[in-house]
Amino acid sequence: MSTSTTPDADTTRLRRPGVVRSLRLGETTVTYVPDGAARLSGRGWLPAATEEDWAAYGEYLDADGYLTAGVGGLLVERGDRALLIDAGFGPGTRPAEPGSPVSDLRGGALLDNLAALGRRPAGIEAVAVTHLHTDHIGWLHHPAPGGDRPALAHAPYLIPEAEWTGRAHLAAHGTGPEVLAVLEPQVRTVADGEEIFPGVRVHLSAGHTPGHASYVISGGGRRLIAFGDALHSPVQISHPEWYAAPDHDRAAASDARRRLVAELQEPDTLGFGIHFADVVFGRVRAEGAGVVWEAVDA
Ligand SMILES: [Zn+2]
Repeated sequence: MSTSTTPDADTTRLRRPGVVRSLRLGETTVTYVPDGAARLSGRGWLPAATEEDWAAYGEYLDADGYLTAGVGGLLVERGDRALLIDAGFGPGTRPAEPGSPVSDLRGGALLDNLAALGRRPAGIEAVAVTHLHTDHIGWLHHPAPGGDRPALAHAPYLIPEAEWTGRAHLAAHGTGPEVLAVLEPQVRTVADGEEIFPGVRVHLSAGHTPGHASYVISGGGRRLIAFGDALHSPVQISHPEWYAAPDHDRAAASDARRRLVAELQEPDTLGFGIHFADVVFGRVRAEGAGVVWEAVDA
């Protein structure tokens, strides 16, 4: 079993939250926009991985045995137009709850990072959501600083149809009726394969949640699959059978991960893993009998 996922020996990127990074796909620029971060207990988040497995993937864990997950969104820009995929956790923190594999979840930096990139919320024409967990919809329901409405409430919130119709299960994951009530007036449901922005299509990958979607961004002869929480860590690229503790339907989620890993091995295909520490953009490369995630920075 290999433990190398980046060509350089510096593994610190595997244990720190993602920073602002951009890729160009022809006329389209995609940029990871951080909002915050969380720590995910390796043993608690990926219960199928054994102590021996974690010994082989030790460079992904901090001194306490936690994976580092960035929290944020993916800005897709083409000319003057802009789409945001996912909207972070929003301002605030969620302390560790006893028994929870999630620790130190915090957000709040998304709007400042967008401003530093020259993008005001009013310039974002739509927000596409991979799924309705709290670390992906924060700025869609929290009031904007100094205001009483969410900063992106002028834009439609594009949500996979099965995710919206299946929203009743979300209360157990922190997305309660009061949050859904704020989202509802903005919601426009989208279907598998639908083009939601020039060169961006919905690509259903249900399992983590009932209607979880990936988004495929095409341009310049390449495509980028933004696969949301179908995969939480690069270690799942090599082990798609390692389910995540909160997966709604483990079998469907495993099937979705296997399909995505196969698609990511096709030519001219890149991936975006929103929670992949500071290796959010990458490709899947054969190594030995298996495959690994290799960071791509251009
Ligand atoms: Zn998430």
